[in-house]
Amino acid sequence: MKVKVLTIFPELFPGFLGYSLTGRALKEGLWAMETVNIRDYAFDKHGSVDDTPCGGGAGMIMRPDVLGAAIKANYNGGRIIYMSPRGKPLTQTLVHELSSETDMTIICGRFEGIDERVIEAFNIEEISIGDYVLTGGEQAAQIMLDAVVRLIPGVLGNTESLEDESFETGLLEHPQYTRPVVWEDRKVPEVLMSGHHQNIAKWRKEKALELTKEKRPDLYKKYLDSKEV
Ligand code: SAM
Repeated sequence: MKVKVLTIFPELFPGFLGYSLTGRALKEGLWAMETVNIRDYAFDKHGSVDDTPCGGGAGMIMRPDVLGAAIKANYNGGRIIYMSPRGKPLTQTLVHELSSETDMTIICGRFEGIDERVIEAFNIEEISIGDYVLTGGEQAAQIMLDAVVRLIPGVLGNTESLEDESFETGLLEHPQYTRPVVWEDRKVPEVLMSGHHQNIAKWRKEKALELTKEKRPDLYKKYLDSKEV
């Protein structure tokens, strides 16, 4: 997968994507990332990329001519995404879909966002990482890429570790434990130390159901509904 990130802060990349599994995958060439500094496409010597909102109001808006020039010079196919609080919510289903793409261009907004005409002109897809407002799209892009890159084949060492993960089956993951078996008078559930694989799987499924029902009733309902079909 080749990712191009359009940003006014290229120095923020790869950021935490340069560490751990995503960083190793980057070094090994399982994915590649290039940053484009939007300021390089400004028309003045100050590198101005923003202007005041038409109709008045607070803040600044990223200019369509500058951002448009950056897109035209760098887009060469694949999905083109603007990280945006009003975008479609990033879910594990969407993450799976994105992980099979070969090319992706991501636009990171700043200020009060970008001029609407750019979204229309390039038929840009908007994706949100949640119902809250960040100062910039860079953080959102890195979170989305972290979730996407770990699903690229070969990035996770043990592909089985995906199977029970939260959201993969429509449920949250069961509780996890490790040694020591007793810690401050708290014992690891006996079944997990029994070596009985069937009982362990049954216990984990029950716990996943319980946890999801308690912590995410919305997900639990969706899961039950999908089983009824
Ligand atoms: N004025 C915009 C609004 O009310 O919808 C918010 C702009 S925000 C301060 C600046 C930039 O941060 C946005 O252009 C977008 O790229 C990014 N951003 C903020 N919140 C986000 C979210 N929840 N998901 C994805 N990107 C986000």
